[in-house]
Amino acid sequence: MKTLYLSNTTEDILKAADILRDGGLVAMPTETVYGLAANALDGDAVRRIFEAKGRPMDNPLIVHVSEFSDIDRLHLVAEIPEKARSLAEAFWPGPLTIIMKKGAVIPDEVSAGLDTVAIRIPSHPDAHRLMALSGLALAAPSANTSGKPSPTTAGHVRDDMDGRIEAVIDGGACSVGVESTVITVATDIPRILRPGLITREEIEAVIGHIEVDRAVLNKLENNEKAASPGMKYKHYAPKARVILVRGTDEKYITFVNRAYARDKGVAAMCYDEDASRISAPCVTMGGMNDEKQQAQELFDALRAVDTIEGVSTVYAHCPSAEGVGMALYNRMIRAAAFEVIDLPKKRVIGLTGQTGAGKSEVARLMAERGLPVVSADAAARKAVEDESVKRALCDAFGDVLLPDGSLDRRKTAEVAFSSPENTAKLNAITHPKIRAIMLDEAEQAAGEWVVFDASQLFESGEDTLCDLIVSVVADRKLRMERLRTRDGIGDEEIARRMSVQYDESFFRAMSDAVIENNGTVGALDRAVGNICERLVSP
Ligand code: AMP
Ligand code: MG
Repeated sequence: MKTLYLSNTTEDILKAADILRDGGLVAMPTETVYGLAANALDGDAVRRIFEAKGRPMDNPLIVHVSEFSDIDRLHLVAEIPEKARSLAEAFWPGPLTIIMKKGAVIPDEVSAGLDTVAIRIPSHPDAHRLMALSGLALAAPSANTSGKPSPTTAGHVRDDMDGRIEAVIDGGACSVGVESTVITVATDIPRILRPGLITREEIEAVIGHIEVDRAVLNKLENNEKAASPGMKYKHYAPKARVILVRGTDEKYITFVNRAYARDKGVAAMCYDEDASRISAPCVTMGGMNDEKQQAQELFDALRAVDTIEGVSTVYAHCPSAEGVGMALYNRMIRAAAFEVIDLPKKRVIGLTGQTGAGKSEVARLMAERGLPVVSADAAARKAVEDESVKRALCDAFGDVLLPDGSLDRRKTAEVAFSSPENTAKLNAITHPKIRAIMLDEAEQAAGEWVVFDASQLFESGEDTLCDLIVSVVADRKLRMERLRTRDGIGDEEIARRMSVQYDESFFRAMSDAVIENNGTVGALDRAVGNICERLVSP
């Protein structure tokens, strides 16, 4: 099928109205996002919307009308409850959808077999004229391929729908940018099923107490039934993996920069003000204090992610879920398939370095200066006491338990370090638990700063949680000597351990400070003192 690209002149809108009356599909601009419209009372036409979008048939559509009186005139609902009238008066035309008991004329395709129907009067003049000139109520979901970010320009619609629908009306960029707030008044207490520009607070000011459905902000458990079928699907997602990162601007910027330093497949989705301080490729999503602009830009930003060459993971700065932020968070958490990284609230010094260089000694000297030290080794020992970790290790490496049920650490190490694949497996099993234990201990610690003492700081990705990184290095000969006396191991084993580590230039490049431990304990103490003073003191 050849898709017709129309302007928003009356002549073109009349053409689109004809297409709709003939049972065709037209993408139309609304103030929220572009909608993919069909005659709402023609089940066959509506069915084609699902085909064009690849939308599951159990996900109902919103019916759009141009006048409040159309609802009665076309018998769209069984009755209009008082609260619906109040909401309509306050917010229509506008980005609010109201769910009511449906009228008998509503085809099953529109309501997906539910006994309710969702109704909205959009404020966009082009949508308005299309409905007025066609005389139709229009069923219209967002005009994107199911699962992708919703379209906020005619260009986005073309990217997804070219050749699949009869026509697109270009009405410019949508001003709101996220879909309507959906509220049901078919329940005893009205309930928000999807947040949008019109907030809970604004609605409560009109009709009093309402609820927000649990699925708006939370992942549904497998056995939970969605009140709005659309809530259960992964949604709004670019091809690249999106992960939300929750933390202050400063922490977020440091996080992304450190992640990018190690992995060039990383990109950022950030507020305008932060872009210039981020070294990774960025898409911006509006000014940090302008939630309306963020809403307007959100879907364009999510689509822009896939235009960045070579990107595999996007770290998006997580918005607060208050006010309009609820709508942003709701979309972004779905784009991220509910994957969130919480950055520590404490300020963190990552302490790492080459084996045998004296990292533990530095940790001790830092602790002496009053800095709480969280040890990754201790966390790792704790992690392997966890039953689910032990089970996963047995699944990966065979029976690695001692008769008393505790982990046989020697046997585990033997298998796990026998090949790079096994080492990666070990890390994948243990690192999340180790990280959780360390974060927990950090939050329990007194004071503003904590030290993460971790030889595998970079390998584990914990470097991204650190405000500052201090590395300890020493001459190879010295390190070998220390390992011989400390661990009583031979040169072959020493060489093997050293060969799997990063070299000194890597530690230097990735650190905010480097301690050279080639001298006496007194010299080391002075070096640590200097660093603590320089980095940690305000
Ligand atoms: P979209 O078509 O992309 O704007 O999505 C419409 C949203 O409204 C989806 O999340 C639907 O699940 C929801 N919706 C439409 N009708 C109903 C209804 N009768 N009951 C509950 N949710 C509905
Ligand atoms: Mg949609």
